[in-house]
Amino acid sequence: MPRDPRFDPLFAPLKIGPVTAPNRFYQVPHCTGMGYAMPQTLAAMRAVKAEGGWGTVCTEYCSIHPTSDDHPSPFASLWDQGDVANLAVLAEGVHRHGSLCGVELWHGGLRSANLLSRQTPIGPNSLPADKAPLQARRMDLADIRDYRRAHRAAALRAREAGADLVYVYASHTYLLSQFLDRRINRTIVGYSGSIENRVRIIRELIEETQEAVGDALAVAIRIEVDAEATPGDDPDGERRAIFELLKDGPDLFDVTITDYSQEMGVSRFVHEASLEPLIAHVRGIVQKPVVSVGRFTTPETMLSQLKRGIVDLIGAARPSIADPFLPKKIAEGRPDDIRECIGCNICYASDIQGVPLRCTQNPTMGEEWRRDWHPDRMPRAQQSERILVVGAGPAGLEAALTLAQRGHQVTLAEARRDLGGRVTLESKLPGLGEWARVRDYRQYQLSKCDNVEIFRESRLSAADVRELSPRHVLLATGSHWRADATGHSFPAGNPGIDLAIALTPDDLMAGKRPADRAKPVIVFDDDHYLMAAVLAELLGREGYAVTYVTTAGVVGFWSRFTMEQARSQARLIEVGVQIIVSHAVDSVHGDQATLSCVFSGRRRDLPCGAFVPVTSREPDDTLWHELQTDTAANAAAGIAGIQRIGDCKAPGLIAHAVYDGHRTARRIDGDQATGEDLPEEPPFRRDRVVISAVL
Ligand code: ADP
Ligand code: SF4
Repeated sequence: MPRDPRFDPLFAPLKIGPVTAPNRFYQVPHCTGMGYAMPQTLAAMRAVKAEGGWGTVCTEYCSIHPTSDDHPSPFASLWDQGDVANLAVLAEGVHRHGSLCGVELWHGGLRSANLLSRQTPIGPNSLPADKAPLQARRMDLADIRDYRRAHRAAALRAREAGADLVYVYASHTYLLSQFLDRRINRTIVGYSGSIENRVRIIRELIEETQEAVGDALAVAIRIEVDAEATPGDDPDGERRAIFELLKDGPDLFDVTITDYSQEMGVSRFVHEASLEPLIAHVRGIVQKPVVSVGRFTTPETMLSQLKRGIVDLIGAARPSIADPFLPKKIAEGRPDDIRECIGCNICYASDIQGVPLRCTQNPTMGEEWRRDWHPDRMPRAQQSERILVVGAGPAGLEAALTLAQRGHQVTLAEARRDLGGRVTLESKLPGLGEWARVRDYRQYQLSKCDNVEIFRESRLSAADVRELSPRHVLLATGSHWRADATGHSFPAGNPGIDLAIALTPDDLMAGKRPADRAKPVIVFDDDHYLMAAVLAELLGREGYAVTYVTTAGVVGFWSRFTMEQARSQARLIEVGVQIIVSHAVDSVHGDQATLSCVFSGRRRDLPCGAFVPVTSREPDDTLWHELQTDTAANAAAGIAGIQRIGDCKAPGLIAHAVYDGHRTARRIDGDQATGEDLPEEPPFRRDRVVISAVL
């Protein structure tokens, strides 16, 4: 289909200093959990973004020198010629598709504990580093000279590698924002004190970088519109003054805010284009191209940002992860095919845990090189087969779609009227509405396939499966939350729980509520992600007196990886939920619960009229077991293989279920259906150095 001409402005080239971006889709620097350690994985992933139409594709934070080492988080680096060689592969992959390659030159300053390089951290003040009980060495003028020299050398290496744009990175609390921060930068003569002094290092770096890279590369700045000391605000106009001082310097302003939990916010708390009111004034000051982010997934919103002069380029990290082909889909007149980011931040959780990026919506993310998976092209099966998928949750929907795209004949049976499984239920909980996109994208894509039949309100038995006589069966029958508190603390369940007053998350999602509204409810979180917090919020909003009890030290401990822990805890406080941390619920009987401290074992009693255990889930694998009991009957029905996928195999995140459905669907061809849970060798290429000679 031709592109809707309304969207033409998104495809207009834009001059950025000496280079020209082919369009307005700009993949801002974002972490990957790959960094310098997995250069092939990284290069292939970035190249796919360019192939998908992102006109500018940037690296993640790229260390200029070993005094800036973020281990164990995998950062990019430009320390030596080895790094140049690897970046050159990335840049070449991006150029192959006509896009620009940007490099975010980075120094972490006092935050970098340098656990790998063991160099002493440096910063404008001697304050604690991030990852070790260690303070930075206060920089002097000689250090500033060395730092400038290192920055220049890294910029030259970026040029050598073929980059088109380099950043002077002055945000996110790293070294240059430490210089800007008057609370931190207090003593360096000529570089501390006045605004002019604190900005000086940035102006020098911009000039020196431009002088070093000449007319070949653009120089961008990434900078916040507010200060760490006054997040969300610029009360004395200091930041405005900083933009005034810098306005003629860099070729591009990549603007952001100091509150990372908003900039990178989960959809539970933050929606599309949320930065607009905070950054809209910048373009009026700087007269240079401006880019900013906002988890943009709607072409209309992107267009509106351009037309109203908020930004010149549409910055995106997560939307480009969820759909590397987002720009192409708009260009080809099929914006309805965009696989929209759901704002769950599972991508960020991967990176922060030091492993390659994964994505709930895009199972191919991080697999471009090691498995040769492409987000928009599916290899056809050599032999088309009739395949039955039982269950239309995330695993079943993704498997059915992938199988259909590979040319199989697919039957999808779902017990309920609605498709989507857990996603349909969970997306009705407070703040989780966007999660329905996991279902909606797949349901829409399936509706366009003529090789898929969907049967709703069709709960299948083993006899039904055999009667349908498919060649392969994928069971995606899901899981349910356990009522007896089985989980981390009670692996064999907790016999002290009176099941008569237990309500599971599934009960609550099905609309059940505690019998007596006047009695207090205890939500017990031994799961540590977000379900318990969301349910406590739900009940608190409905007027129940809720106590949230967790064995961890904070609300939703694991959700710190998705950058929502602090907001989640704040939300419970706002809603009036009482929070008790570091306690297990030992027993619930009558109107009373007994808790025990996870450290001391000391007990305390609480009134309790209803108990919501959020601890673990039981796989719904009855159908699987039934089918296993008579393999001869399966063979007689012509069934060559039966596999479980998703939560009915191993309950997990939606991301796990989607991935499992996708992976399994890629592995079915003819009678072959290779599982890979216990493979004889790694089922993917490994990105690591192999020593060529035995020493
Ligand atoms: P997953 O995350 O693994 O996709 P879900 O729990 O989200 O799992 O979805 C499982 C889906 O399977 C639910 O919609 C459920 O109604 C459906 N289902 C479970 N058992 C059967 C069955 N025997 N026949 C058809 N559908 C089933
Ligand atoms: Fe968006 Fe979630 Fe994918 Fe991240 S993991 S890109 S937040 S859908």
